[in-house]
Amino acid sequence: MKLLEDRIRRDGKIKSGNVLKVDSFLNHQMDVKLFAEIGKEFLRLFGDCGVTKILTIEASGIGIACVTAQYFDCPVIFAKKNKTKNIAGDVYTSKVESYTHGKVYDIIVSKEFLRPEDRVLLIDDFLANGSALMGLIKLVQDAGATLVGAGICVEKAFQPGGQMVRDLGIRVESLARIQSMSEDGHIEFC
Ligand code: 5GP
Repeated sequence: MKLLEDRIRRDGKIKSGNVLKVDSFLNHQMDVKLFAEIGKEFLRLFGDCGVTKILTIEASGIGIACVTAQYFDCPVIFAKKNKTKNIAGDVYTSKVESYTHGKVYDIIVSKEFLRPEDRVLLIDDFLANGSALMGLIKLVQDAGATLVGAGICVEKAFQPGGQMVRDLGIRVESLARIQSMSEDGHIEFC
């Protein structure tokens, strides 16, 4: 998606540890008009898949997922990062390793909201090593719901997550795929 690639080139900042900061338009300050174009693009890609729920992970996926859901006319569920030790039986859980902080945490979704009859589209801002996406995939599988695919804004294609998830036979559509980036600010898209 050229609009997103151009914006990344213009406003993205490359930090150490292969972290691309897009705080000025994607995951701190949010450019909602850009989100609308992203949502329309996800609709173009997945609009004929009968999506009944969009599932994302807190926090930075929520804004994009909500704007996208307006085009799909369906609810958004966000997997919560669990803070309590005891996980009650009325939730699905999985573990995610944070790319930016390195910590492993549990994510949960209430069984009430993710149902076997649901057709689920996953949405997230970034795909790097694939831990967040794999955690979300497990929640969908545990619920016995149908996974339609994953819509990602920025895939760092030089990291293994995209390949890993596609190798499972899961459809992954990334709107900007970064082939390489360097700390001097150079970004190459696939
Ligand atoms: P993964 O689980 O695929 O390794 O990483 C995905 C998650 O880590 C995303 O939900 C995103 O929040 C965060 N993340 C991974 N790489 C980056 C990055 O380069 N920049 C930012 N801002 N977040 C990232």
